[in-house]
Amino acid sequence: MDGLIPINYLIPAIIFIFGAVIGSFLNVCIYRIPRSKSIVKPNSFCPACEKPIKFYDNIPIVSYIILGGKCRHCGAKISKRYPFVELLTAVIFLIIYRRCGLSYELLVQMVFVSLLITISFIDYDFQIIPDVLSVGGMVFGLLIAFVRPGFRFMDAFYGVLIGGGVLFIIAYGYQLIAKREGMGGGDIKLLAMIGSFTGFKGVLFSLIGGSIIGSLVGIPLMLMKKENMKYAIPFGPFLSCAALIFLLTGDRYMDALLHFIMGR
Ligand SMILES: [Zn+2]
Repeated sequence: MDGLIPINYLIPAIIFIFGAVIGSFLNVCIYRIPRSKSIVKPNSFCPACEKPIKFYDNIPIVSYIILGGKCRHCGAKISKRYPFVELLTAVIFLIIYRRCGLSYELLVQMVFVSLLITISFIDYDFQIIPDVLSVGGMVFGLLIAFVRPGFRFMDAFYGVLIGGGVLFIIAYGYQLIAKREGMGGGDIKLLAMIGSFTGFKGVLFSLIGGSIIGSLVGIPLMLMKKENMKYAIPFGPFLSCAALIFLLTGDRYMDALLHFIMGR
């Protein structure tokens, strides 16, 4: 039966399509959650002409290409964001499938990645991180840790403790001394959520890695725009990006990062 069903390609293809469909749902969440709208009703509609989008015009990635990035009814431009989020989710799902195989852990990591993507884009758009995602995700991460192979509840617990507790104290202390907010409450709740899925190592990696990526991206951006340093670039996307790197590489860069901090 060899070659009759190319199973080696079939499962990755299904994972990719599943990722694109989830990405499409994440687009809905990114648009609706910060606007306090229901994520289930109504069905998708064009934000310009408000006509409902038919199912055949709502196929992830494909429809955007077929429609040439324009609404079928009014011709309004559809944001490139939509196919981008769909493609991004599909590719990351494929990468974690390659790492985890068809497993329970794959599902857990799919949820975690979905939370990170949704939070990043909402934070980028609105400079807020909704509690339903950060705190809700953290509760989920803690509960799922009880039944997660290779990950203990205490790992999640310490992750939340470091991400939420210790950083809250640092941020609060900074605020008292500097009389202005350094890291926002939303970022701390996000770190606690990251901790519930990745443990305290993941929190440390995300915080340090996120700061490095944030500086690499943020400082040139501020210089170009000639904005002053107080101009807030949301930190959430950088924390999420570093958390994703930790998830996909595990401890590989952790040692290098620790050496970097210790200065050797
Ligand atoms: Zn339209």
